[in-house]
Amino acid sequence: MKKSKDYYYGRQTISKSDTSSVLKVLQSPFLTQGPEVKKFEDEIANFTKAKYAVAVSNGTAALHLAMLALDIALSDEVITSPLTFAASANCVLYCGGKVVFADIDPKTGLIDPVEIEKKITRNTKVIIPVHYAGQSCDMETISKIAKKYKVIVIEDAAHAIGSEHQKSKVGSCQYSDMAIFSFHPVKTITTGEGGAITTNDESLYKKLLLLRTHGITKEKQDFKNPHNLEVGPWYYEMQTLGFNYRLTDIQASLGLSQMKQLESFVKKRREIVEMYKKGFSKDVRFAVLSEESYGIPAYHLFPLLIDFSKINKTKTEVFKALESKGLHLQVHYIPVHLQPYYKQFGFKLGDFPKAEKFYQSEISLPLYPSLTMDDIKDIIKIIKTYAV
Ligand SMILES: *Cc1c(COP(=O)(O)O)cnc(C)c1O
Repeated sequence: MKKSKDYYYGRQTISKSDTSSVLKVLQSPFLTQGPEVKKFEDEIANFTKAKYAVAVSNGTAALHLAMLALDIALSDEVITSPLTFAASANCVLYCGGKVVFADIDPKTGLIDPVEIEKKITRNTKVIIPVHYAGQSCDMETISKIAKKYKVIVIEDAAHAIGSEHQKSKVGSCQYSDMAIFSFHPVKTITTGEGGAITTNDESLYKKLLLLRTHGITKEKQDFKNPHNLEVGPWYYEMQTLGFNYRLTDIQASLGLSQMKQLESFVKKRREIVEMYKKGFSKDVRFAVLSEESYGIPAYHLFPLLIDFSKINKTKTEVFKALESKGLHLQVHYIPVHLQPYYKQFGFKLGDFPKAEKFYQSEISLPLYPSLTMDDIKDIIKIIKTYAV
């Protein structure tokens, strides 16, 4: 077979309207936080139907601010999935909290509510379900558990902008207190680097705004002024220890323009997934994730599960063979508890057998809107020929 093209597991789609909207901002008076950031936030709130959206510098900053807004501190426990990007768990460590993992449902790669409930203690403060590959977790069940034990739910929706859950868009916070998004170039829409938090809670919203900008406010009605300083037009107050996690207007203008294309991106991603599913079904060597009936995922990833015991190659051999044919894949994810940094917390191999087995069999196939149907046919053929 000829080596036709190079394919990557994910990449951005940038249109002419994207570049022209960024250029417009470069020639405007505002480069960093200005009118575009507010418009982008309004667009995210409007799209998800959450009351508030706060744009931040990346998805990791969004997670960190969500933790800070909840005052996560020493001895607080936060439950998340081991099958995620490290940031979903690291945000807890930033605040001195304790990360607790709950194993996944191997059919979906999503955190299993039954496993969550087993991990709840008196110290559990938050659950962070991760919408792996773009499919929403079972939020209704998770929120029932959260209510029963009075814990807070933050959705890590980094994979799931445009996904639906029970006819609402992910990020509506129908069953959660906050949801976070990432706009890294591999995600469904991009701002270069970028992220956002949505919430329906006004007090959380205000805290997030403050924390995003050094803990500083310029809102007169919020001033505390303990020393009775003169309150002139220059006056501002630092009321808490915040960060500089702002998004720029340059990035927000790209985000606004990308939001206009989101529905078409999602449609194309779903079409590609359908083709992959058809291509790999009825072949015992492969398995694909099942789609839950409560939602419509906007796929960020297409995880293919390979039963390596049924083929005569190791995962490394398959990876190398595919690489030589132009297929540059990735694996999502090395379970976080197996990262060397996490060893100090006592985690070991065997702790989360379902996530570990999933990791061993998973490869993520190319999934982005600029792939043509012929590309997908080509990719399926390459895999079926070389992954055996
Ligand atoms: C990408 C990602 C993040 C972090 O987003 P950044 O914008 O890269 O900081 C968090 N959680 C998950 C599940 C992700 O995939």
